[in-house]
This record gives sequence, structure tokens and C-alpha cells, in this order.
Amino acid sequence: MKLDLNIQPLSSWIKTSSEPLLIAGPCSAETEDQLVATAHLLAKTGKVSALRAGIWKPRTRPGEFEGIGSIGLEWLKRAKAETGLPTTVEVATGKHVEEALKAGVDILWVGARSTVNPFTVQEIADALRGVDVPVMVKNPVNPDLSLWIGALERINNAGITKLAAIHRGFSSYEKTAFRNEPMWDIAINLKTLAPELPLICDPSHISGNRDLIGYISQKALDLDMQGLMIESHIDPSVAWTDAKQQVTPAALAELIDHLTLRKPEIRSSDLKDKLADLRNQIDKIDDLVIQKMAERMQIVEQIGNYKKANNITILQVNRWDEILGKGIKYGKALKLSEEFTEKLLELIHAESIRKQTEIMNKDAAGQAAEKLTHA
Ligand code: PEP
Ligand code: MN
Repeated sequence: MKLDLNIQPLSSWIKTSSEPLLIAGPCSAETEDQLVATAHLLAKTGKVSALRAGIWKPRTRPGEFEGIGSIGLEWLKRAKAETGLPTTVEVATGKHVEEALKAGVDILWVGARSTVNPFTVQEIADALRGVDVPVMVKNPVNPDLSLWIGALERINNAGITKLAAIHRGFSSYEKTAFRNEPMWDIAINLKTLAPELPLICDPSHISGNRDLIGYISQKALDLDMQGLMIESHIDPSVAWTDAKQQVTPAALAELIDHLTLRKPEIRSSDLKDKLADLRNQIDKIDDLVIQKMAERMQIVEQIGNYKKANNITILQVNRWDEILGKGIKYGKALKLSEEFTEKLLELIHAESIRKQTEIMNKDAAGQAAEKLTHA
């Protein structure tokens, strides 16, 4: 069953400067200089279609920086006047909506912590009644598609037809490589239920770590999402919020240049394809294998430090025989060939030995160098 939403196409409310559609800007507006300078650099890349900045920040714990507040609206105005970039901010109350509209903000977005709460969403929707402004709704923090749909419906029922959804990943108790688990299936389900609803991915909040942003961005494009929202700061190392997941405007431009844009027709039919579905399952498993390898290597590092502290050799033949024997037996029971399991374990083992050797040698090299300088 399809959702009954009244939606206008993305092209009716945002001019895409270059493909893919990119909304970028700092997690938070911190100072007028930081915001305006970041906006200039972003505009100069020619790849950004709208400037984002949080001015009312929903923080997990009290006492953290909670946003610069309404003064940030003046800074956004200036950034827009000087760069021509349309602006977008997060709104979490009816008052935020009124203030943002009064200040001429072009696009509003509802944050993940608001989407979870129908009271909040309804308050925002009521403030939007009778206004013609585009609104983007982030998925709720928890993996609940109905809450996401409910929020989109509330805003749409208030008469907002320039509507988009933002996929920013979901909280999970289990610690993984991502700050927020992508759970792509939920976004794909939304797309299937509302094919006309533009879907934008927020790789920054999914990743929580700038190194993963490119990977998540490519995946989002391959799933036929229509755009990306990426946090960009003039100097991420000193950002007041979400420092680890922001990139400089120059790094952002490079990241975008490395993305492969696939043809929409192929992408759309891919989604429906059985083959695409199977590949999707494989990708998930590959992600998991890599993630588990990273976890394994972290433990190897602890073992390496322990062996070093206690003067134990890196290689203990008995232990390796035991791993190999057990693994091959287990693999056989799961219908993997002996040759494959053996090769796989050997590869993992070789990397573990390499890592431990690195640990053993680290200080040894340092000591040798010290001896030389004191000689
Ligand atoms: C943000 O975009 O800075 C933000 C607070 O995001 P989210 O609502 O996805 O946590
Ligand atoms: Mn953020």
C-alpha cells in the first residue's frame, strides 16, 4: 500500500548547483565569522545547493553547548546575502518555526529527537499551517518507520507539500562502527511506500566519523537517494559540536568528486531487482565481516601489549594449530571448503602477527634510537 502524501518534486524548491544535490554547513553556527567564512568556502566549491547550520541544538546531556540561538538567524541572513546560498535550520518548537520564517530561512528541518515525539511534530506542523516553506523530516532516533511516516503525514496535513525525508541512521544499543546504524531497509521501505517523496541521506550523523562519510554517501546514491546533507566546518578540529564527523569545505569537494553517479533509470530498476536485493544482503554481510575484523584486530593489539609486558613470544604454535583445527572443522560443518577456511584464517593470522610485531618493535626502535643519541 502506498502512502497518501501530496508532494511537489524537489526541483520545485531547490536548485541543484551540481549533481548530487548537496546541503552542507556546520553542525552548529558558533560565531558569525565561522559561519560566514564556512559559507564562502562552500559556495566556492560550486557543489553546494544550500547552507545548513544548527542554532538550536538538542544535546543529549545538559550543560553541553545548546546552540547559539536566535542571533544565528542574523548570521545566516548575512551568509545568504554574501554567497547566494539558500539556508536551512533545524526547528524543534512552534516558536523556532516562527522565528526562522521571520528571518527568511528558506528550508526548515525537523531533527531526529523531535520526530520521535508526535506532540512536538504536531506543534511544528501547527506553526507551519498556511505557510509555503519546504520542510525536511529526519528519521526518528529509534528504528521505527511508523513514527517517521507519522511525522511526514502531520507536516503534509498542515499543507506543506515541499517535503523531503532525511535518513540519518538509528540508535542501537550494540556498539558498531557507526554512530547511528544506517538500517538501509527502513529507508528503502519508506521509498517504496512513497516513491515521490525525496529522500536525502545524512552520512555525517550515520558515520559519526569523517572517514566513513564517503562510503555512506556512495551507498546512499546507489540506493537512488536524491541528495546528501553533510556537515562541513572551516576547522573541524575545533568544532563545538560533532567535531569528528565534520569535514572542511575542501575535503567535502574532494569527497564529492570521488562519488560515482549512476544513471537514475538503472538505479531505480536496480532497487526492484532481485539481484540488487541479493547484492544488498551480501554488502551487509561484507560490512559485518570487515567490522568484525576491525574488532578482532583491536583485541590482537591488547594481546600484543600483554605479551610484551610479560615477555611472551608472539607466536605460539600450539595456539595457532588449535585456531586452525577448530576453524576448519567449523567451516566444514557450515559447508565451506577446507582450502577456503584455511586460507582465510591464515590471512587473518598473518595480519595479527604483523600487528603484534609492530607493537613489540615500537619501543625497541625507540630504545635503540635513544641509545644512539646517548652514545
Ligand atoms: C544535526 O543535524 O546537527 C542534528 C542534530 O541531527 P540529528 O537530528 O540527526 O541528530
Ligand atoms: Mn550534528
